[in-house]
This record gives sequence, C-alpha cells and structure tokens, in this order.
Amino acid sequence: MTLDFVLREARLAGREAETLDIGLRGGRIAAIAPGLVCDAPEERLGGRLVVPGFVDTHIHLDKSCILGRCACRLGTLQEAIAEVAAAKRAFTEDDVYARGRRTLEKAILQGTMRMRTHVEVDPRIGLKGFHAIARLKRDYAWAIDLQVCVFPQEGMTNDPGTEDLLVAACAAGADVIGGCPYTDTDPDGQIARIFAIAEKFDLDVDFHLDFDLDPSWMHLDEVCRQTAARRWGGRVAVGHVTKLSAIGAKELAAIGHRLADAGVAVTVLPATDLFLMGREAAHSVPRGVAPAHRLLALGVTCSLATNNVLNPFTPFGDCSLIRLANLYANVAQLGRPADHAMCLDMVTRLPAALVNASDYGIAVGNPADLVVLDAPDGAAAVAEIAQPLKGWKRGKPTFSRPCPVLHRPE
Ligand SMILES: [Zn+2]
Repeated sequence: MTLDFVLREARLAGREAETLDIGLRGGRIAAIAPGLVCDAPEERLGGRLVVPGFVDTHIHLDKSCILGRCACRLGTLQEAIAEVAAAKRAFTEDDVYARGRRTLEKAILQGTMRMRTHVEVDPRIGLKGFHAIARLKRDYAWAIDLQVCVFPQEGMTNDPGTEDLLVAACAAGADVIGGCPYTDTDPDGQIARIFAIAEKFDLDVDFHLDFDLDPSWMHLDEVCRQTAARRWGGRVAVGHVTKLSAIGAKELAAIGHRLADAGVAVTVLPATDLFLMGREAAHSVPRGVAPAHRLLALGVTCSLATNNVLNPFTPFGDCSLIRLANLYANVAQLGRPADHAMCLDMVTRLPAALVNASDYGIAVGNPADLVVLDAPDGAAAVAEIAQPLKGWKRGKPTFSRPCPVLHRPE
C-alpha cells in the first residue's frame, strides 16, 4: 500500500477495544486498519487516543487578552459589555490581530483544528476587527479552519450604521452572521433582520441568547419560530441560554423538543457562564450553566465552547477544550465513563455537526486532521484532562508537546 505516513497503535473514540493504524496520503486519511503493511515513515502512539481535532464553536478572538485595559469590580455581564465597549474604542487592526494571534496559537497548541470566532461590528470599531480576524484566518489556515461570525454586541436596531456594516462584512466574506438580541431595544426586530441577512448571503446564523437566570421570558421562542418559518433548520445555533439552567425538567423537555424540531443547536460556555451568572447571590450561588447533556438527550445538537479568554467576560483561559469538557462534567455532576465520553463528543463530533462540517472525523477520505491525546480512551481523556501531544492538519504536523518525565532521585 502506498502511503505518505502511518500513525500506528492508535485508539479511536468508541472503538477503544483494539489499536488501529491510520494511513495518510495526500493530506487525507487513506486507510484505517490494524497492522497496515507498508514501508512509509511511521510514528508509534503506544495505544493513545487519537481524535479528529477539537472544534470550538464559540470564541471571541477580537476581544481576547484585554484584562489589563479593563476594570472588573462587579463581575456582571453588564459591566463586561460596558468595559469592553470602552476598551474597543482604542482597538486598531494590528492590535486585534496581535491579541487574536496569541489566543489562536494557544488554541492550536491545545489541539483545536476548527473554530467559529465571533467578531464585533459597529460604527465605533467599524470593520477593523473583521479585517484583522480575516487576516488571521488566512495566515493560520495551515493549522485551523476558522469561521468568522460577525455580530452586533452593543445592539443593532438601536445603533444606526451597524446593520450596513454587518452587510458589508458579509459581502466581504464573513462566514456566519451572528446576533445578540438581549442588548437590542427591539430584540425580535434584530432577530428578523439577522435572518434576513442570513438569507441574502446564504449564511448560517449564531445568536448570543437568553443570557441571564430569569426564566419568565425567552428570545428562544422567536429564534425557533423564525428558524422554522424561514426553513433555516440545521443552520442556526444559540450560545449561553443560561435561562435553561433555571427551569424544571418538564419545561426543559418541552423546550428541548422545540429546539430539536426546529433544528436549532446550543453552545454552552461553562467558563463564562459560571463566572458571570448568579452575581446577586451572596451564598448558594447558582451554577447558571445550561444542561447541555439533558438537551442532547432530547435530540438537540450541543457543543461546549470557550467563549472569552482573559477579558472581563472571562478573566481565565488556556483555550483547552478538553479542560472545558472536564469543567462541564464537574459542574453538571457527571461521573460515569459514558458521561465523560459524551462530554468529549461535545468538543469534537457534535460541534463539528453544529458548524456543518461535512468532512470531519477519522474516516477514510476525510482530511487527516488528527490529535494525539495522552489517554487510552475518551472517558479517561475528559476525567484526567489529557494533554494533547501532537497534531496534524491535512496530514502536516502543526504542534507537539513532549510527555512529562518524572526525575526520580538517583
Ligand atoms: Zn460569546
């Protein structure tokens, strides 16, 4: 068999009983079988888990790494939006590029190979952030497939000029159109306008939605209604929906079925939601994280994602999705190996489905996007936050990290 390279003794999620060889040719997976016979260069993985790269469906590269420019006294969503809005006025294209690059490189080193980044567009920042991130997309295409989702963080119908800028960004090649109805004075109006832009440019839609713990009202209903009315099912995602952590099982089941029927996917952002929600509580602080695993059981496509890195929304961040899968399992009180394997799915296979990646997964014919984790199976990878040791994007190495070594006394 003619191959460029072989990864030997790999374990694949869901097929952990045996070790397999993965043969690469022309940047694609050409063969998967035990004991492939060929004389191509090879690397032995010693039974370690190989995943098809992590998929981060929701991050903000443009406003990452600005903690030093912001005051964070209250730790609320309103403060975070106001602080970033003030800092944003000084953003330049080169500044956004440099901070975005730092965050993107961290993500690549953590094994992320596909990513949807939100980018703020409004009359203050104009298209500077969009142009910077579009450059990053081109410059790092060797390591990561980056989708650029432009959105109005500070409102749209109440912020003249914003919609024209969003349309201009879509005309200039934005991949996804995003919305944020909770900061708009006319939330339903914004939802309708965002869908209209999506239809005009044939784009997927991604909303920041229902980001508090008051379950008495939700924008979710309008998003599901518009998705169904415009036949946009399978092309719509909503992020946060923390209100869903504040309702009972019966109501959650009804909403889960509604989301699944409409074809609206959900991204849960545990780091941000844990940090910002429940600030009014002095004790017994609610976790404020939407129950992705319960929605998944109801048929909703769910992902876990990073959201913010080192800014007032989330003053943390190593860009590790395996750590976020572990964090979610911990917060959601999930302890069985099958649950941990499901959490791995929510940072790999399921987010790939959310972004409509049709060529994702370790299968013959797909791009050779492969990440070796220092774990024997998916459940252990999540339970132990296994380190990504090495990655290949379309068959070319993109990063490596040595296994830690213990130095015993002589
Ligand atoms: Zn976000």
